[in-house]
Amino acid sequence: MLSEIYLDTNATTPVWPTAARMALQVMQTDYGNPSSTHSAGLRAHRHMARARAAARRVLGTETGQVVFTSGATEAIQTAVLAALCDVRARRARGEATGSLLVYGATEHKAVPESLAHWNAVLGLGLELKALAVDAAGRHDLDALRALAPHAVMVCTMAANNETGAVSDLPGLEAVMRTEGAGALWLVDCVQALGKLPLALDRTRIDYAAFSGHKLYAPKGIGLLFVRNGAPFTALMAGGGQETGQRSGTENMAGIAAFGTVLEALARGDTFRGPAPMRDWRDRLVAALCDAFPGIVFNTPLDHALPTTLNFSVEGYSSSELLDVFDAAGIRVSAGSACSATHAAPSHVLAAMGLPVWRAASAVRLSFGPLADEAFIAEACARIAAAGAAIRAGHLAQSGIDPRQADGIVQLAGGAQCSWLLLDADSRSAVLLYPRPALETRVQRTIRSLGYTLQARIAPDQTLSAPAATRSVRLADGGMAPALQLGSKVLVQVDRDGCQAWLYGATDGDTLAASAVRCAFGPPGPAADACAGVLGPDTVWCPERDEEACVATIPGRQRSPGSGWALSPQGLATLLASDAAALLVDVREPAEFHAQPPGSFGGRAPVNLPLSRLADQLRTLLDEPERTLIFVCRSGGRSENAARCLRLNGHRRAWTLAGGMALAGVDTTSTALAEA
Ligand code: PLP
Repeated sequence: MLSEIYLDTNATTPVWPTAARMALQVMQTDYGNPSSTHSAGLRAHRHMARARAAARRVLGTETGQVVFTSGATEAIQTAVLAALCDVRARRARGEATGSLLVYGATEHKAVPESLAHWNAVLGLGLELKALAVDAAGRHDLDALRALAPHAVMVCTMAANNETGAVSDLPGLEAVMRTEGAGALWLVDCVQALGKLPLALDRTRIDYAAFSGHKLYAPKGIGLLFVRNGAPFTALMAGGGQETGQRSGTENMAGIAAFGTVLEALARGDTFRGPAPMRDWRDRLVAALCDAFPGIVFNTPLDHALPTTLNFSVEGYSSSELLDVFDAAGIRVSAGSACSATHAAPSHVLAAMGLPVWRAASAVRLSFGPLADEAFIAEACARIAAAGAAIRAGHLAQSGIDPRQADGIVQLAGGAQCSWLLLDADSRSAVLLYPRPALETRVQRTIRSLGYTLQARIAPDQTLSAPAATRSVRLADGGMAPALQLGSKVLVQVDRDGCQAWLYGATDGDTLAASAVRCAFGPPGPAADACAGVLGPDTVWCPERDEEACVATIPGRQRSPGSGWALSPQGLATLLASDAAALLVDVREPAEFHAQPPGSFGGRAPVNLPLSRLADQLRTLLDEPERTLIFVCRSGGRSENAARCLRLNGHRRAWTLAGGMALAGVDTTSTALAEA
């Protein structure tokens, strides 16, 4: 099993073994309640006092309050509640207050959502105002200068979780000191801890939020710094723990574990400093540039955390890149919520004004200050392997084997589909239902195959001169305009107000129903409306695939039933009892190339990417007695493949639930054509 190279520390980190040991000690030995006055309680209390003292040293505060919370979201929540309760109290006293809640446009959602939430709950009617950032993700100080005098609260982050962009805190502070006298200032320091120096007592910051799990402590522990004298309202009332600032019996395992991390940070002997981290980042940058020649970095490196890289590769979507990295054993994340499945770009990258393709292709790679030489060397080697997989010939370039570059390809972005019709003889293609989110993949496929894109046909577009090249007679006697694609035609039909496209080879000027290889149209009743011009085996390729069933043969359609997911154990049993079972890996070829050799109990799957399943549907259905077991990385795509087969009447199609990720299997596959 390929070991994992985890490069997603901005999402979360593993727990440092010393911290884990401490958590265990506190759970099993020093398990007292820190509020108890007996010896067990005192031992627990000492852990808490040590953790708080270490926090004070790391944060650079002697006079501020350090309140343990369940994480940064709670810390942010508490700060916002405190600030807004103060506004309410000032208003009640008849004092004038500002009217704005200002937050950086690239803040973690915890900030604007908390502001909106408490503003609504307290009925304050304040206006939320996003503070613009520049192309490097740094706050617009002139804009802040204009907003700060009207603000009751200003929230900015020290470093961004998606891009690593480091804020100009001294610049922000200067504006807050001169223009923001009436505003409370919250700084989200989650991504700064352990990576940037902090000296909170020397700043004008009123509140600062921290989270343990971003720096090798367990999840569920964080802290809030409150400047001495800053307003405070407890979010949680009860037993009066944390001197009444945060009631509830303390998460002692989390606090003590976080305490060991903070003590190590304060000592400076455990976590790497900025210089080696910058050196490692430079090596990762060099490896990425070698592996992906079209790469662009989305944050200037001199203004970013040394541990975070956010990049885009032209021609690839985030999700395609992530799949290849994952197959190479590297765990990174989309730098954005934008993937082939979600059309909305990351709010962070959008605020930085990045072009759509960069936001749609963004990948975030992050490592922590406990990394070491060997880890970075292995990460660089895996990046090289991921790049090689992407480049591994035309196969990986386009996701299509050129020997099979004929027929139909489904490009799916969530429920939205585009269909690419490839004709090998004329080396040309037609794109049905173009979608912006899938554009890069279309361009790359066409370019790498060296085909000409003859036409793009949008939903509801009608075929008219000059695109229509001929007129074709259909099975129901009707004539319809057609586009010639090599030796086949793409014919537009309109039956009962349902528009569809038929694809097949004509005999003279006639397209017989049985010659209609596939048809494209909306899901639902359109296929029925077109029944008179479709053959019994015509594959209906939907314009939208809401039910994730890929494609259907209308005459064979039936309920998919249920209970066709296999556990790893179930898979082993099935393989042992059925020597003819066909294992089908439905991942795209580049992922497949990145995955090192391995097999399922001695049997290697063939590779049939999900995007080509519709093309091969009839072939697979021709062997209804043969057991088909679909596999992929996480079980999502293989689930769709099995559903498709079942829906079309195949009773022996299965999916490996949870995919290879949970089954702990690596595969070696060969292309279907070679099987
Ligand atoms: N702020 C930033 C910048 C973060 O990255 C995160 C975590 O993703 C949070 C806040 C929320 O932290 P927690 O998970 O501790 O609630």
